[in-house]
Amino acid sequence: MTAKRISEKQITILITKLRDLAYNLWWSWNPDAQQIFRELSPFFWEHSNNNPIEVMNWISGPELRARLQNHNFFDKVNRVCRTFHVYMTEKHTWAKKHAPRLRSPVAYFSAEFGLHESLRIYSGGLGTLAGDHAKSTGNLGLPFVGVSLFYRQGYFQQQISEHGWQQECYFTYDPHKLPMVLVTNKKGHPIICSVEIGNSLVQLQAWLVNVGRTRIYLLDTDLPQNEEQFRSLTAQVYGGDHWTRICQEIVLGIGGVRLLQALKIAPTVYHMNEGHSAFLTLELVHNRLQSKRSLKQAEASVKQQCIFTTHTPVPTGHDRFDRGLIEAALPRFTSSLGITIDQLMSYGRVQPEDGNEPFCMTVLALKMSRDANGVSELHGQVTREMWKGLYPEVEVEKIPIGHITNGVNITAWTSQSAYTFWTSHLSYNWVKKLRDHNFWQQVVSKKKISDEDLWALRTTLRWELIEFARKRLRQQQLRLNANDVGLFDNILSKDALTIGFARRFATYKRAPLFFKELEWAVRTLSNKDRPVQIIFAGKAHPKNDDGKRYIQEIVNMTKRLDLFGRVIFIEDHDMNVAQYLVAGADVWLNTPRRPMEASGTSGMKVTIHGGLNASTMDGWWREAYDGRNGWKIGEDTTVNDEKAQDDLDAASLRSVMENEIIPLFYDRGKDGIPHHWLNMVRHAIATLIPVYNTDRMVEEYTKRYYQPKTNRVRARSASLR
Ligand SMILES: *Cc1c(COP(=O)(O)O)cnc(C)c1O
Repeated sequence: MTAKRISEKQITILITKLRDLAYNLWWSWNPDAQQIFRELSPFFWEHSNNNPIEVMNWISGPELRARLQNHNFFDKVNRVCRTFHVYMTEKHTWAKKHAPRLRSPVAYFSAEFGLHESLRIYSGGLGTLAGDHAKSTGNLGLPFVGVSLFYRQGYFQQQISEHGWQQECYFTYDPHKLPMVLVTNKKGHPIICSVEIGNSLVQLQAWLVNVGRTRIYLLDTDLPQNEEQFRSLTAQVYGGDHWTRICQEIVLGIGGVRLLQALKIAPTVYHMNEGHSAFLTLELVHNRLQSKRSLKQAEASVKQQCIFTTHTPVPTGHDRFDRGLIEAALPRFTSSLGITIDQLMSYGRVQPEDGNEPFCMTVLALKMSRDANGVSELHGQVTREMWKGLYPEVEVEKIPIGHITNGVNITAWTSQSAYTFWTSHLSYNWVKKLRDHNFWQQVVSKKKISDEDLWALRTTLRWELIEFARKRLRQQQLRLNANDVGLFDNILSKDALTIGFARRFATYKRAPLFFKELEWAVRTLSNKDRPVQIIFAGKAHPKNDDGKRYIQEIVNMTKRLDLFGRVIFIEDHDMNVAQYLVAGADVWLNTPRRPMEASGTSGMKVTIHGGLNASTMDGWWREAYDGRNGWKIGEDTTVNDEKAQDDLDAASLRSVMENEIIPLFYDRGKDGIPHHWLNMVRHAIATLIPVYNTDRMVEEYTKRYYQPKTNRVRARSASLR
């Protein structure tokens, strides 16, 4: 019997839905949706770094119709589109119940958003945090809008030369091939805003990225009517010099506020994710002044509406501009505020009168925010200490900078295999239970999940990582020397203890710490009975030669004969590489020099995959570690001498590896399964998943910073009336 033909009309309707789906990054955390696009064109899917728009552009109309005549495929697409529709129209969200007073959106400004590997508008953890934050607000039903820049060239693609030196390659992306649309008015004309830079007026258009129920607007200066020097302003993430940086920040902060106005979006709260966007506060003051308030009143009212999250104690992470730069960039804006350049400078100075002090964006953000926070308990302390000069009247402990520890959007980081595993072992609803301690407590018992099944998951994920690494190494080699491609077919061992290390190569993260005593490292990694292997990835900022030297050091390790195939460096770290690594690694190594890692998030991505953390006592880990859910490296104290601290931590790392991690991994039952290891995995899942996720984090932001604001504004405006 032949199946009934699906009507042309049904197919037309489904194609429309499928296109809508492609333009909403909801697919980026729904494995079934990704599967559809992959199935449509495995080649284009991979070739485009997993981008549904490229797949949809590639496949012709007639072919798509023919493919959808397959009943199984039609049903699959239909099911996913229905799930998407249900998600988008959900009424009973968390926010409806828990944040009913928050009616107009929180506007969240961030210089980078890590949403998906095909949208290269992020550099590292700050961006992925912003992306995860945005995804969670949508899931929780919180009114929320993101603002950032559209970087046409994105962050660079990394290639490693023969000599192990990082090369930066830039490609220009066509916005029409990305999951975003130009922001237009009702007539279909682009909405254009402008900002004053120097004596020029720079025009901006914006792109809309739909992220589930959340919208993110990306500003773009690449318009023909702009002077050449301004067209390329938004080309690269953290590109160019100080001038580029200040201009980008004017576009982001001032341009962002103007865009929201043009869109008639009136935010309840402006949330600055890092200081890059802090000029927004001055634009808000500028607006208030037009309703004839005094400068002081305008400032006070703006301050009630702004909150600020700082993300790093590293000094270069805080933009500072000297007076000349401010004067060159903001003369017109300053006079429109009715103030002098020196008055403007004082907003960004700890000592307003100190003519030598540059303008610091963090200082501006702190001065103009009602509330500020660091991103872990220790980072809160460090931040209060760091900025105590701004609060001379207040004891350090009482400085109004709190902390909310970061999280990750666990659903978005869960690999397909792990997603299927939890769905079948716990419930299809597990993604809605991320904050539920009791739910994850189930994992501790072997009733729901046997050791055999849990170990099988680990094995699968490790294999997937190794297959991926081999493929990437072959491609890397193909570029350098096509004769030796076969060399990488059998690198890495599928059942060896696998350590992962992947993040930006900022030097304080100390990527080469494992090799500090080389003889030990070689002995450990080349042990035949209890093999250990380690996979690295990460980019150094183009201007950071010290970071590039760290990469070179590691790449040189990968070339040693006695380490070949046991130490691997995967080029061009991005969210896709990160996904494979956090899923496949048995142990996630994190060695920042305490207390420089404000939070760190990559370690939070491994738990759902049954990976374990080994980390210095910094950022999130010193809160999360309980003695049984992973390992600590070094002590929870800071040593003032950097070299001494490095030596101590390296020694501790060696000892933990040798005495704890390796023996536990290779302590096997008669069935070949490491039961004690898996107990630790279970305990890690039960203790870490319910806490270190962005649903919990966004809930904290809402309760402490987003929602109470509504009360205060109401109370204030009531008293004014
Ligand atoms: C999660 C993530 C990071 C953050 O890593 P940290 O260890 O917190 O520095 C950086 N880059 C990418 C691509 C990530 O996915």
